[in-house]
Amino acid sequence: MRSGEGAELVLRGATVLDPVAGIDGVHDVVVRNGRIAELATPGGELDGIEEVDAEGLHALPAFFDPHVHLRVPGQEHKEDIETGTRAAAAGGYCGVIAMANTEPPVSTPADVEALREAAREAASVPVGFLATVTRHMAGEELTEMGAIRAAGALGFSDDGLPIVNARVLRRALQYQHLCGGTIALHEEDPALSGDGVMHEGAVSAALGVAGVPSVSESTTIARDAALAGYESGRIHVQHLSAAESVAAVRAAKAAGVQITCEASPHHLCLTDEAVRSLDPRRFKMNPPLRTEADREALIEGLRDGTIDCVATDHAPHAAEEKEVPFEQAAMGVTGLETAFAALHTELVLPGTIELGLLVERMAGGAAPFDLDRPTLAPGSEANIALCDLGAEWTVGEDGYESRSANSWCAGRKLTGRVLMTLAGGQVAYRLRSFSLGVAA
Ligand SMILES: [Zn+2]
Ligand SMILES: [Zn+2]
Repeated sequence: MRSGEGAELVLRGATVLDPVAGIDGVHDVVVRNGRIAELATPGGELDGIEEVDAEGLHALPAFFDPHVHLRVPGQEHKEDIETGTRAAAAGGYCGVIAMANTEPPVSTPADVEALREAAREAASVPVGFLATVTRHMAGEELTEMGAIRAAGALGFSDDGLPIVNARVLRRALQYQHLCGGTIALHEEDPALSGDGVMHEGAVSAALGVAGVPSVSESTTIARDAALAGYESGRIHVQHLSAAESVAAVRAAKAAGVQITCEASPHHLCLTDEAVRSLDPRRFKMNPPLRTEADREALIEGLRDGTIDCVATDHAPHAAEEKEVPFEQAAMGVTGLETAFAALHTELVLPGTIELGLLVERMAGGAAPFDLDRPTLAPGSEANIALCDLGAEWTVGEDGYESRSANSWCAGRKLTGRVLMTLAGGQVAYRLRSFSLGVAA
C-alpha cells in the first residue's frame, strides 16, 4: 500500500470485540504510530492525538478478503488497484488478495513484481497477489512457481477456471514442497457444468435454463482433497456453494488433509430463487446461487469451522457485459463494500449466527495464506473496522467506490455500516458524513 504516516488517534468509548483475542468490552482504543498502543479505560487524559467519538460504535478487527478481482492488468475499465482497494477500505478490509486471471494472466515473476510496485503507488490497503498455476491458464504446463514465489506472490490460482487435469495439479502440489505458497482452487468439472448458467434444480427447470449441478463442484473438491492428501500439499478451496461441497471439505479436514476454504456473502445470503428475476447484474455468478438447503449447509460450515473464512469473490464487470440476456451475461458480482453489512443484516440480526462468529470469519482469510490475522490485541498493527451496527443505508444510492456497479446488494437496505477503516496502521477510509463529525 501507499506509504504514509502511522495513525495517531483514539477511538473514544468504542465497544471493542475481537473474539479470537478474547476482547469484548468498552474501551478507548489508543492508536500511536500505527499500532494499537492500549485499550484504555474510557475517558482518560490523552495528549495531543485526534479524538474520534466512538461511543455506541463497534471497533472490530478489520476484515481480510482472500479472493478479489482487481482486473489489473488489462481490464482497468472494470476496476484497478486504486478503485478496488478503495472499495475494500470502504468495506472495512485491511487486506485483500488479488486473483491472477487478468489480461494477460499474472504468470511470471516480472508480472508479480510489476503488480507489487503498482500497489505500493496506488493501494489504500495492502494487496497480496497470486500468480497462475498454469501458463496462460491453459491447464497444461506449470508456471515457474519457484521464481514467482521469490518475486513475492503469496500463492497460486487459476481462479476463473478449474485445473481439469489431475496430473497437472499433482505436479503443482509436488512443486509446492519446494517453493511454498497456498494453491487456491476454483472447483468445477467442465464436463458436468456444460453450458449451465445457474444452479441445476427446480428453478432452472422452471425457467428452462441450463443448470450447473452441485456435483460439478463437490466431486472436484473431493478429487483435489485426495490429491492434496496424497502429496501432503496444501490447498484452499474457493467459493463453496453447495451442501455436498461442505461435506467434502469437512471429510477432508477430518482425514487430516491440509485444506481450507471460503464462502461468499452472496452464497450465504441468497438462493437460486433470486434468479427467477433473470437479473444477471446481481444474480449471475460462478459458482451459481444454489438452494436454501445449500445455503443452510454453508452457514453450518461457517459455524463449525469447516468454512474458515468469508471471501467476496469481488468480480467487477462493465455495464455492457451485464445488460444483456441472462445466458450471455458475464459471471460475477461485486461485494467488498457490502460484505459485512449484508451478513450482519441477513445472518446476525435475525439470530442465525453470532456477531462474534461473523467477526472471526471476516478476518479468517489471512491464515490460509500465511498472513497474520488482523487483531485488536495491544501491540498489534492497527487494523480496525469502526462500525455503526444500527446504521441503515441503501446500497448504491451514493454510488460505489468500485468502478463497477454489479453489486448483488444493489438497492438492498442494509443495517450496519463501516464508518472508518484503519489498514496497515494507517487511516484507509472514512465515510464522508462521519469524518465531518470527528473532532480534530
Ligand atoms: Zn472462481
Ligand atoms: Zn474469483
